[in-house]
Amino acid sequence: MHLKHIHPDQLRHAVQAGYPLLVPAGCIETHGPHMAIGHDTIIVEEICDRIAAAMDVVIAPSFDYGPTGYALGGPEDGTIDPNYDAFGGLAKSILHNFLEMGFQRIVVIIIHQGMGAPLAQAFSKAAAELSFEGMLERGYPRGWWADAKLKDEAAWGRIQVEPMILPAASPPAGGDHAGYNETSFLLATRPELVDQSKLDENAPWYCHENEEKSSWSANVEHGQAMVDAVVAAWVDRLGGKG
Ligand SMILES: [Zn+2]
Repeated sequence: MHLKHIHPDQLRHAVQAGYPLLVPAGCIETHGPHMAIGHDTIIVEEICDRIAAAMDVVIAPSFDYGPTGYALGGPEDGTIDPNYDAFGGLAKSILHNFLEMGFQRIVVIIIHQGMGAPLAQAFSKAAAELSFEGMLERGYPRGWWADAKLKDEAAWGRIQVEPMILPAASPPAGGDHAGYNETSFLLATRPELVDQSKLDENAPWYCHENEEKSSWSANVEHGQAMVDAVVAAWVDRLGGKG
């Protein structure tokens, strides 16, 4: 179920039943001439929808405007790069709200760049800070670290920041930028957002980083195999039956 769509009584039920809250996080970034610039958020949303079909979860509204560093092009190519502090501040305040809603397990899911990049780091930093600040907010005394029981209550792990492609899904799932893998992911989930006929000799380097496995040879079969593996790994991780 989507957080945006539920009523307060359904929210309370989801929290009490211990449903995980999945938080898709991505960016607006150019993905070659042939794909939607929202690719990295859209793919995570599609995966979350498929997880939700297999088990009980709540899906939060996405974080669409993550940092990109203009690593692959500028605004004229369809890329947005927000102020990092502003993004981090928003991410932290919304995660705080999710904790206040009562969710015991909040999982931020990311495919864009790596876990060491500004997008994932913004959420990891927010999660760590919220764990510590939460102790003081709840009135625990300074020096709480010495008390193992209090430390357990510090909400460690209540917020997790994870790559969309968990180790158990790779292979077949793999990463790249708008190449064989990402193009196949979108072909398998939102084919109307891909147009491989727009690929020509002017296509950027990342479309043909690997000559055989390129944006041109990307296909639904590979995409579906990746989607199935990624969803199965998540259902397993979240404790669903799948
Ligand atoms: Zn991408």
